[in-house]
Amino acid sequence: MAISEAPATSFYQASLRQFDTAANLLRLPEELRLILRMPKRELTVNFPVRMDDGRVEMFTGYRVQHNMNCGPAKGGIRYAPDADIDEVRALAMLMTWKCAVVGIPYGGAKGGVRVDRRLLSKGELERLTRRYATEISLIIGPDLDIPAPDVNTDAQIMAWIMDTLSMHYGRNVPGIVTGKPIAIGGSQGRFEATGRGVSIVAREVAKHIGIKFEGATVVVQGFGNVGAITARLLHDMGCRVIALSDIYGAIANPNGIDVALAQKYVKEHGRLAGLPGSTVISNMQLLETPCDILVPAATEGQITFENAERIQAKLIVEGANGPTTPEADLILQRRGITVVPDILANAGGVTVSYFEWIQGRENFFWTERRVNEQLEEMMIESISRVLKKSDELNVPLRMGAYVVAISRVAEATEFRGIYP
Ligand code: NAD
Repeated sequence: MAISEAPATSFYQASLRQFDTAANLLRLPEELRLILRMPKRELTVNFPVRMDDGRVEMFTGYRVQHNMNCGPAKGGIRYAPDADIDEVRALAMLMTWKCAVVGIPYGGAKGGVRVDRRLLSKGELERLTRRYATEISLIIGPDLDIPAPDVNTDAQIMAWIMDTLSMHYGRNVPGIVTGKPIAIGGSQGRFEATGRGVSIVAREVAKHIGIKFEGATVVVQGFGNVGAITARLLHDMGCRVIALSDIYGAIANPNGIDVALAQKYVKEHGRLAGLPGSTVISNMQLLETPCDILVPAATEGQITFENAERIQAKLIVEGANGPTTPEADLILQRRGITVVPDILANAGGVTVSYFEWIQGRENFFWTERRVNEQLEEMMIESISRVLKKSDELNVPLRMGAYVVAISRVAEATEFRGIYP
């Protein structure tokens, strides 16, 4: 039942390994294992984009739907130079478990385009987005598969996708994406939702394991949508944020960083380095900074076999998807460090995406207060279910969360049976 010590060779293999361990714990029948291990549908698209200088460049994009037995597929789209089918497959699978762990009626999907967004002008970004949306329109739709923002994508990109597909349909189809701007049917609170969820989870689990939350020291890796908002909310909740990072490097201030000021600084300078009062450290030093709560909120594979022995946090809350490799997980477990898994910790985003989808269907829009209250209620319920399951089985929170999630998807799969 233990996870093998050999490093997984890819993100997807690492995700399968987590699944297999939970499936063993659950004694999941072989038939269900076969079905749940595999993505249902994968689409790879190669498409041309006319660049500003008149040249044509070819781009590659993906959309993978892992499982749709609990409802339409849901999952973000990322733009990254190293995006590939393996990564998108792994992320789609994680989305299946994430939706199930918080009990929302969706399956899991993910999309990606291999591109360095920083190298595109706004016009090129728009043309690339509209063409990618058209290419994947074969398999997305408000009742089929609903994309959302992820790494290097945002509300503007969702607006272009929604507008492109509305032009194809000949009518408005706001339900085709979530994370849209509020002016075209987005939800109050969606922009902050993932970070809000991460901060609620950090607070609840810190309480549960006996960390004094007020004044707790916090380190956050990644200062994008998830990282910056988590850092700001934890700061506002009374924690002391002592180190932050972005792709350009990391900064530290043991007396505490004013996160709102850091956000303002990044808006003006494009990076954290140089924030007055802070010193520059490396990204590796950041992860190894002694602290109460570490939030990896950048990308996958950051806490590994190599550095897990040197992590000095009491609690790790996975804002990013897949930041801890299975080998690192075992080391952290042995060292008594609590890890709140991605599928629970960052589920706030997809939860408010679900609220956005409901609001769009009803054409009745909630106040920010209602969104935040409902999010908090669902997160707290999900956390306590996972804590209870982990206690009951005497396993780490990741396995508790996987068991809750896989049981739900397995039940739906069994009821539906095999067609024909
Ligand atoms: P983003 O593009 O808004 O921000 C990413 C941040 O990470 C940026 O500050 C970037 O500079 C930094 N970064 C990238 N590589 C880094 C590295 N190697 N070291 C340090 N910093 C690095 O992306 P995001 O939406 O905040 O997503 C971050 C993570 O959270 C991803 O794993 C994503 O899948 C996950 N996630 C996002 C959402 C969402 O709603 N946006 C929801 C759930 C999970």
